[in-house]
Amino acid sequence: MPLRQTEPLAPGRTRSTDLVDELAANGRLAHDELVALITGATQADREYARRRAAAAAQEHFGNRVFVRGLIEFSNHCRQDCLYCGIRKGNREAERYRLDADQILDCCAQGYALGYRTFVLQSGEDAWYTTDVVVDIVSRIRAAYPDCAITLSIGERGREAYQRFFDAGADRYLLRHETATPEHYARLHPAGQALSTRLECLRELKEIGFQTGAGFMVGSPFQTPDHLAADLELLADLRPHMVGIGPFLPHHQTPFGDRPAGDVDLTLFLLSLVRLMLPTVLLPSTTALGTARAGGREQGIQAGANVLMLNLSPQDQRAKYLLYDNKAVTGEVAEMTHAVQRSLERIGYTMVVDRGDHPEVAR
Ligand code: SF4
Repeated sequence: MPLRQTEPLAPGRTRSTDLVDELAANGRLAHDELVALITGATQADREYARRRAAAAAQEHFGNRVFVRGLIEFSNHCRQDCLYCGIRKGNREAERYRLDADQILDCCAQGYALGYRTFVLQSGEDAWYTTDVVVDIVSRIRAAYPDCAITLSIGERGREAYQRFFDAGADRYLLRHETATPEHYARLHPAGQALSTRLECLRELKEIGFQTGAGFMVGSPFQTPDHLAADLELLADLRPHMVGIGPFLPHHQTPFGDRPAGDVDLTLFLLSLVRLMLPTVLLPSTTALGTARAGGREQGIQAGANVLMLNLSPQDQRAKYLLYDNKAVTGEVAEMTHAVQRSLERIGYTMVVDRGDHPEVAR
């Protein structure tokens, strides 16, 4: 039942804390209520949401944080998203591709360190045809039957998705970036449509992938209405994974001089997503850690329960720059241990097992 503004609030409570409670109880709010929460919550209200979200994560996952091994295997992209450093229009980007053997080498390195989820991410690179991707997935599946394979390779279409799934891929990440068509059109060139992306997300779910959607916070032209629509989309789609990070500009894009997204608002939205979808796999993103020192740990404390660490070859990592100042250095074992220690400092334990969504755990 939506809270009416006229209802008396208990001492110490506010309209925002009541909306937070209602979101946690029902998994959704009316559009206007979401806008009111996004625009009206004070720092104390956000802290209330953070504590509730951390408790919800604790209830479903304990103090465990799943760590995934990320392999950025190509920075070629046929798309031209205006915010992205590896968009095809960026003639300055130094491009690279990893072949199947190099990708398998990354998996081997990660496996030896205990990683049991590999996230294969790239731009939309047609060099990796459906057959090539199927071959890569099949080889990883055969070599590592105990590992989860996540793909994040963009809009491919139902037939390709089905073949990837049949070859052994378990999960697919495809952030929708904004759920408002007019806003989508301001972030992407003509020819890229939100409807295509949403259709892909529906197909992925239907096929049986653990599916991830997500959006940027603070992207150019974004309003509270847009963010409320993003949350409503998640409430309807009920994805297994949600990726939320602050918009960060890249100097070789049309949005290079735009301000970065607000970190505290991003953390608040992470908490709201945890309350809406209590069992969701929710990464504390690299972008959050780039935007603020300690940002990834704050993301975990706000309700996130996943971290992705980069297993890509060190000499290629610096070329996969979706935004400026991305942290790319560090040897994998050293990074893994550093993350383990930083999680322990805030009372969490790093786990490297498959970490499936509770509703589909095998
Ligand atoms: S956001 Fe993804 S699809 Fe868009 S240009 Fe960048 S890599 Fe390509």
